[in-house]
Amino acid sequence: MQLFEKLIDHDEALRRVQENIDRLPVEAVPLEAAQGLVLAEDLEARFDSPPFDNSAVDGYALRSADAAKGRVFQVVDEAPAGRPAEKSVGPGEAIKIFTGGVIPGGADAVVMVENTSGWGKEFELKKSVTPGQNVRLSGEDVRRGEVILDAGTKIGPSEIALAATQGYGRLPVHRRPKVVVLSTGTELVTPGERDLLPGEIYDSNSFATLAQAREAGAEGRRISAASDDADTLRDSIREALDSADVVVTSGGVSVGEKDLVKGTMTDLGVEQVFWGVKFKPGKPMFFGKRKDVAVFGLPGNPVSAMVCFELFVRPALMAMMGLPDGDRPRIQVYFDEDVGNRFGRMHAMRVSLEKTERGWRAKSVGAQGSGLVSSLTRADALALIGPESEGVLAGETVEAIVLREGVLRAKPGAGTES
Ligand code: AMP
Ligand code: MG
Repeated sequence: MQLFEKLIDHDEALRRVQENIDRLPVEAVPLEAAQGLVLAEDLEARFDSPPFDNSAVDGYALRSADAAKGRVFQVVDEAPAGRPAEKSVGPGEAIKIFTGGVIPGGADAVVMVENTSGWGKEFELKKSVTPGQNVRLSGEDVRRGEVILDAGTKIGPSEIALAATQGYGRLPVHRRPKVVVLSTGTELVTPGERDLLPGEIYDSNSFATLAQAREAGAEGRRISAASDDADTLRDSIREALDSADVVVTSGGVSVGEKDLVKGTMTDLGVEQVFWGVKFKPGKPMFFGKRKDVAVFGLPGNPVSAMVCFELFVRPALMAMMGLPDGDRPRIQVYFDEDVGNRFGRMHAMRVSLEKTERGWRAKSVGAQGSGLVSSLTRADALALIGPESEGVLAGETVEAIVLREGVLRAKPGAGTES
């Protein structure tokens, strides 16, 4: 039987992960594939935007100097969006214009059709018009040469919109990490495949890990659960190593006789960076590298696997994509009661959150057993307790990593728990 040679602290483990992770190469990806990735370079405006003065409404372009209430105008041309008028506007004249249409020469304002006698060859003004009214000026949004998006910005719908207005069809980003996920354990059956025989359970980890990887912005693929048989394990892990930037296994990484994952990985050329972390839930976690491929061996207990992913794998994926500080909000939380901890070990405790007059109140989701999958659906955050304390007293604050950002928008007293 193997034993852990040396357990390290959570902080030390995370530091070693970060030290061993590089940003992935920069690629120009199509706009529609850029969501969730991080800009690798500043993006500059290529021209003033909007590129021309245009109308904000449907109505008539005219000279504001002529535009007293009651005045009648002759309509001499039209300017729908995309087709500028051929004529310009003279005294007592107007050009029919629609939202986005180019403001014709001579005109300096647009009157909404609602403020006239209506559409026709001529119209009467029902309201006077001020200079510049309903005109969107060229360059009022962005100016040519201005940095519109900074390197390091995570790309979401708004960033995509802004880049598109400037004609960028592709964006320079660190490419999406390729994650291959592999569950190990002879007891595992793929959900949906068949009913369980005695002693079997369904493989939940590989699906959970895949979802977590995708949520972080990675490209994920799962390899069917490998058994604890040494040859099967070797073939599966080799296949994973040959096709991934990051390999994430679950199970078989502890000190039992059937725990062959670590040994198989090292036989296949993975160099161990650490094995064993003074941290609950997830002590047996393994991390290693084979050339540029990062390899995480997560414990099999579903809660441990998900928490270890959150604390170690997600930060690594973020760093690869160009966000070394991650993107999970961190907040201070307090408990209503004392919470114990074994000194020297950090507990990442699953908690629900509630906004109160005093700040964010955390409450344990219930039993913290590492096999209790149902508890995960109630966890809003991981409260980080210890390692250098025997717990927290009621009212004292600790840091928490927020897993569900939506909860931060809750109003005081709007929590689901009381
Ligand atoms: P292990 O780390 O392999 O000793 O597994 C620890 C516990 O987690 C055992 O009860 C396993 O049956 C369970 N387990 C391992 N892998 C999975 C998985 N992919 N899905 C659900 N439970 C698992
Ligand atoms: Mg196992």
